[in-house]
Amino acid sequence: MNQTHFLNAKLADGTIVDLIVASGRFNAIAPAANAATPPAGAVDLAGRLVLPAFVEGHIHLDTSFYGDAWRPHIPCTDGFDVRERVAFQMRNLERAAPMAERAKNQLELCVGNGSLAMRSHVMVDAAVGMKHVETILGVREKYRDLIDIQLVAFPQSGILSSPGTAELLDEALKLGCDLIGGLDPASFDRDVKGHLDVVFGLAEKHGAGVDIHLHDGGTLGLFEIEELVARTTALSMQGKVAVSHAYALGDISADALAKAGERIAAAGVSFMTNAPGNHPFPPVAALRRAGVTVFAGSDNIRDSWWPYGDGDMLNRANMIGYRSGFYEDWELEAAYDLVSRAGAKALGLEGYGIAVGAKADFVALKAEHVPEAVVAVPKERTVYRAGREVARDGKVSG
Ligand SMILES: [Zn+2]
Repeated sequence: MNQTHFLNAKLADGTIVDLIVASGRFNAIAPAANAATPPAGAVDLAGRLVLPAFVEGHIHLDTSFYGDAWRPHIPCTDGFDVRERVAFQMRNLERAAPMAERAKNQLELCVGNGSLAMRSHVMVDAAVGMKHVETILGVREKYRDLIDIQLVAFPQSGILSSPGTAELLDEALKLGCDLIGGLDPASFDRDVKGHLDVVFGLAEKHGAGVDIHLHDGGTLGLFEIEELVARTTALSMQGKVAVSHAYALGDISADALAKAGERIAAAGVSFMTNAPGNHPFPPVAALRRAGVTVFAGSDNIRDSWWPYGDGDMLNRANMIGYRSGFYEDWELEAAYDLVSRAGAKALGLEGYGIAVGAKADFVALKAEHVPEAVVAVPKERTVYRAGREVARDGKVSG
């Protein structure tokens, strides 16, 4: 059996170990041997902190301009308006570089920073039809040895307000999308039941997961979350439903949140946040205390929605910790968990972690421990996929 030895790796608990990888998985983890003659081909990690590769839980591979020309942000004319932003996006995309090229740029940015699993939403609507889905399915296939990608068929222009979209979403799931998305059933389609009937109907038909964009705030957003929770339970879809953004959870009362948290945890619905700069966002600590899985994503990177994003999930953990007021070590570890184990759980990833039998997808970086990695965000890092180096210091190898 072909084995690779990684020597002197520091685990999150501080122990220094040797890792043996065979057939792409950790075969053995043992205290560092410090042998006078290291095994042939061994990689000495020299005490670097070894973490499982990060999980990019929410990105848009089809709409980023990363690596393309800079597109100055166009502000909404009368406060944040999803419809208006979609219109700006359509205009921008008309003069963008080819989608496969932009997706590749963004994907390599993520891999270079240590993410080896991601969930990308891909736009499906009457205007673009299957074009985005077909292109991104091709990109996924091309890079399957480098990164695991889940695709969400995302109705960016609504479902009921964009006739024909329900049929296109059905087609997208047939073509290979893993999950069905949604978009503000109340404020966008103005029909919570109608919107969710389509989303959960297609989820049931295809055995697909659900990951819905929900920007609606306050009690309106909470009402929609309650509807999602009820449907998840009714269809026994625990662990397969996620709500992205869920700003509402960031601006309801503590009492309302406590009640909702219990029901959400029982239904196994997870929540994705990118800790956006100008919105209330789900209170990470309170939700985790209630047993709710909270995970993280970059969301938009250099696109028509905002100019931010660097594809670095360690930096995302930093932002989430910063905006959450996390200072203590256990809190910084919680911020890291969102881009690591909690992300893996929300995405249902198999074989995640640094453990015997787990996939040898990992990042080695210079940090004393996880809390320091979260605040320092060291850019010098090496990324291994199935025990093979695939990126170093931000650049994909080869
Ligand atoms: Zn999004």
